Amino acid sequence: MKNPLPFDPLYIVLALVIAGFGYSTYQLNETAVKLGLTTQELASTTTALEERQVAMSDELYAATQGWQAIQSRLGGFENSLGTLEKLSKTDPELLQKYSKVFFLNEHYAPERLSQIEKEFTYDESRPERIHSSVLPYLEDMLSDAQKAGVEIFVKSSYRSFEEQSKLKSAYSVTYGAGSANTFSADQGYSEHQLGTTVDLISKGQGGELAGFEKTAAYAWLQKNAYKYGFVLSYPPNNAHYVFEPWHWRFVGEELADYLHDREKYLYELEQRQIDEFLATLFD
Ligand SMILES: [Zn+2]
Repeated sequence: MKNPLPFDPLYIVLALVIAGFGYSTYQLNETAVKLGLTTQELASTTTALEERQVAMSDELYAATQGWQAIQSRLGGFENSLGTLEKLSKTDPELLQKYSKVFFLNEHYAPERLSQIEKEFTYDESRPERIHSSVLPYLEDMLSDAQKAGVEIFVKSSYRSFEEQSKLKSAYSVTYGAGSANTFSADQGYSEHQLGTTVDLISKGQGGELAGFEKTAAYAWLQKNAYKYGFVLSYPPNNAHYVFEPWHWRFVGEELADYLHDREKYLYELEQRQIDEFLATLFD
């Protein structure tokens, strides 16, 4: 059969296929371009989001750190406020070192005094008073000693300036002015005026403070008093003062423990060192 057309119809089919393919490719390219753009947009959006997320995390982290820093700073502030509050409420005289040249003002009086239970005083007809914040420590100590079978009594505690002056003149009369200055009446003068100090005695001493170091009461105190915040102000063989085994001063459990561990006595420490214990005096 003879082909009536000047060209092979196959070419038309071929051309259509090519055109169709070309169009499809164009379309595909178009789509690809569009898709490409979208992907790029998406990619950049994702990147932006990720960057934002990191930035937010950093900000959040920084904020947390900042908050923690603020919190810890606040905590520290609260702590120092607590310490300051305690310090402002604690009379600095209570841990002051006194001597014959540095003594308590004659007008000084403790902020509050409480009467010691009669069962703990040597002379039940003579009421003894002590600084109100020290009272529970003293009574704990004396009742624990009692439970251990050791009898310890308060012979004398708070003394006002006037009472002390009378006592001193009484000693002067008895011993003469020269020796009165080196005797107990002078030595523990300020400490008794503070209201934190007691002279302790046991039965069988005939009411005399002298010789207390030979009693079971003294041995018990030597071993246990620091646990209740009491220390000997003038221990044996100290370089500065006459030994007073009966004279015990409250300095707080922490400082008493510190002194006990180091086998030191209050007057050996620097006032600067002692003052660090002021905030925890009644803890
Ligand atoms: Zn005394």
